[in-house]
Amino acid sequence: MLGLGEMGSAIARAFLAHGYRTTVWNRTASKAVPLAEAGAVAAPTAAEAVAASPLVVMCLLDGAAVDEVLSALGDTVEGKVLVNLTSGSPAQARANERWANERGARYIDGKIMGDPPYVGTPNARFLFSGTAFEAHEETLSLLGSVSYHGEDAGAAAVEFLAQVAMGYELLLGFLHTLKVMRSEGADIIGFADRFAASLTAYQPLLTSIAKAIESREYPPDLGPLDVQAALMDDLISHRESLGVEAVRMRETRQLMERRIADGHGGQGFSSLFELLG
Ligand code: NDP
Repeated sequence: MLGLGEMGSAIARAFLAHGYRTTVWNRTASKAVPLAEAGAVAAPTAAEAVAASPLVVMCLLDGAAVDEVLSALGDTVEGKVLVNLTSGSPAQARANERWANERGARYIDGKIMGDPPYVGTPNARFLFSGTAFEAHEETLSLLGSVSYHGEDAGAAAVEFLAQVAMGYELLLGFLHTLKVMRSEGADIIGFADRFAASLTAYQPLLTSIAKAIESREYPPDLGPLDVQAALMDDLISHRESLGVEAVRMRETRQLMERRIADGHGGQGFSSLFELLG
């Protein structure tokens, strides 16, 4: 295990808890002490840790840290399987795979959704991609709920970034809406509970939107655009009357107006996809 920050330490502990002989290394050596007390072998260098095991798991701060550690390892990775659980982009994952393959190593990319205390439980989600995954699925499944996203090493990062991006898109809209509710003197905790309950209605809608985009046949989901555009005016003027940001609503209305002007006012919200750059 290379990297013993909050996450790397939790991962090393999960392996130890399942009786795996685990060698650990961290740039700042003191972080290896609690792991050594828990039964790990602390290696003085990353290369020595790599030499000790066929499966090498990395969890470092970012892509730059991974590059630094990999370049110090060089050809010592030959014959190993590298599992990189550091957050990063699809391009970084694919470049790491090329780097490993050129040195006779195999590469699995992994991305983590969940906090360190949940590692080793189903509440920590691990997304994997790369051709070597299947052979190590059993070991990696000890870390939490595992999903496999395909042979392209970048696929786990694609899924991870999409999941995280959706979270931020939703939550920023939620913050703006709470601002509206609070400006109106409404009970925002009650609203949060009610909206959480109504989120289940979005589950079938998301699938039907994706299917409409794939088929390019757009039913009037959420109603025809002609009707929805009128509602947008109410949303925008309500927000702006309270001094709350309405950029996203204005963007939505503009897309609706363009679609209606193109003669598609009978189609639904999903058809706005056709206008996205
Ligand atoms: P920490 O800040 O706790 O640990 C960072 C680790 O990276 C340390 O081991 C640090 O070593 C090491 N490191 C940083 N730079 C270098 C370098 N140049 N060379 C060698 N080692 C380096 O972060 P986390 O453990 O929390 O996060 C690790 C990864 O896990 C990140 O990519 C994060 O996005 C991801 N993750 C974390 C979650 C969390 O809740 N913590 C949740 C989901 C994903 P040193 O001790 O010497 O500084």
